[in-house]
Amino acid sequence: MLEPMRDLLIEAKRGGYAVAAPNVWNKESVKAAFNAAEELGAPIILDVGYAMGIEETGEIARFVGARHPRIPWALNLDHGGPFEHIIRAIRAGYSSVMVDRSQLPFEDNAVQTAEIVRIAHAVGVTVEAELGHVGQGVEYEKTRDAGLTHPEEAEAFVERTGVDCLAVAVGTSHGAYKGTPHLEFDLLETLSGMLEIPLVLHGGSGTGDDNLHRAVKTGIQKVNLYTELGEAWFEALEHEFAVRAGTAEVASADEFTNVKKKPAQLMEDSCRDGYQKKLMHYIELFDSAGRI
Ligand SMILES: [Zn+2]
Repeated sequence: MLEPMRDLLIEAKRGGYAVAAPNVWNKESVKAAFNAAEELGAPIILDVGYAMGIEETGEIARFVGARHPRIPWALNLDHGGPFEHIIRAIRAGYSSVMVDRSQLPFEDNAVQTAEIVRIAHAVGVTVEAELGHVGQGVEYEKTRDAGLTHPEEAEAFVERTGVDCLAVAVGTSHGAYKGTPHLEFDLLETLSGMLEIPLVLHGGSGTGDDNLHRAVKTGIQKVNLYTELGEAWFEALEHEFAVRAGTAEVASADEFTNVKKKPAQLMEDSCRDGYQKKLMHYIELFDSAGRI
């Protein structure tokens, strides 16, 4: 059932695990996310970016979600930018919105986040904000340190805004890393101890299983995943195309006779073999399997 994201995360904090938050952008990725959750008995958060279609992807998510009534799930606008986008997501039935003002000074971030909290809470929608700044992997070594979240600021920010959960910068990065990811577990432990609300980790892809597992056990309740899921889908697609072209080693006679798959089947199969498998790996790593 579609639920306010805060309920899923509060439950995760209680249970000491994290809910996987894969980016979705079309029917195949939405189905793969729900199938992963269904197979493992896990809650799931679908993250939709503005560029992925607020209304259309939201509509697909709710259509598919209705066919998985036992799965507790949330629909979240990822990196909400302009005010209009956030309002559109609320109108489209999202159960959570992220307001990302992490590149603004503290004061502006706090004022704009509080405004969204007031509006969203009036209709039971969760708000995620970001303090500190999680940058892009290509500039990891240049931007990592300056972006880290300060505990005292985080405490003041939560108090001022009334936000439901907070994305913190503890050494992860969006996209592929240039350099080796190095996480600040002491900082995360401090933040997790000081703040009652659940914490979110952006930039899960490429961070490494050991780092992610430790981050979850140190106090992260939502992990965003995008790059690696897309890459896994690409790899599976490449295999499908190679089978079609007769240049791939095929695992079975079945696979070989199925060379002329229809496009829709090919897209679904490759998404299941790539995206879904990778996502299931992370659901288990975050310890959220079997929690429903
Ligand atoms: Zn992010």
